[in-house]
Amino acid sequence: MQIHVLASGSSGNSIYFKLGQTRLLVDAGISTRRIERSLAEIGVKAGEIDALLITHEHTDHIKGLDVLVRKYQMPVYAQSKTWEMIACRGNLPSGCRRELADSIDIGGVRAEPFSISHDAADPVGFCFYHQNYKCTVVTDLGVVTKNVEDALAYADAVVLESNHDAFMLENGPYPRSLKQRIKGASGHLSNHDAARALVSIPRKERMHVFLAHLSQQNNHPDLAENTVTGILSGHGCEVGREIVLHRTYRDCVSSYVK
Ligand SMILES: [Zn+2]
Ligand SMILES: [Zn+2]
Repeated sequence: MQIHVLASGSSGNSIYFKLGQTRLLVDAGISTRRIERSLAEIGVKAGEIDALLITHEHTDHIKGLDVLVRKYQMPVYAQSKTWEMIACRGNLPSGCRRELADSIDIGGVRAEPFSISHDAADPVGFCFYHQNYKCTVVTDLGVVTKNVEDALAYADAVVLESNHDAFMLENGPYPRSLKQRIKGASGHLSNHDAARALVSIPRKERMHVFLAHLSQQNNHPDLAENTVTGILSGHGCEVGREIVLHRTYRDCVSSYVK
């Protein structure tokens, strides 16, 4: 199992998963050139990707989709309401455009989308299952609902939003309306929210957690990690053994390989 977060945050998101021999990309929110370059760093060619899965239509998740899919002709899965919001859908090669179902099989990996609360047409997170492994990716959500908890439960590795520090957001330069949007039920999870989600779910002996989609303005990797560590420790969780935290970056790759 391999997870490589190629880019994370409001300037662009793309995550590469390898489960067994199957290579998946979740979101293409950075340019094709950057995707190619980041994949090359880990010895992967973009043409080897088996499928691209799209969480939602916001630009930071689809910016590179058009060029990437026309160049490499890989299948792209998204919810039908999400496709309706993707302007370049008509440019894509016929046959590449696929609709998500409750569960799809891609080269022996079972991919299950689940609904999340965010201000997009039909946003989703994904669980991937391969043999005994479960990986979950969930960013861009305002609240941790029961189905998000179920998606995180017993995962071996998760990519989880830890968008902002509530104090920095509140006291930062954003206009009130934007602060409300971010804090709202269809916005983004704070560092506290991410930590609380992790303490509330049943887990295997060890869970790897990428803290993702960090706000450049209202967060810092040290702060996110320290806040989450503090809350987990306060609930008796041994960080580094039961939960291993991984940072993610706007402009460089963050990896976990098992
Ligand atoms: Zn986003
Ligand atoms: Zn979004």
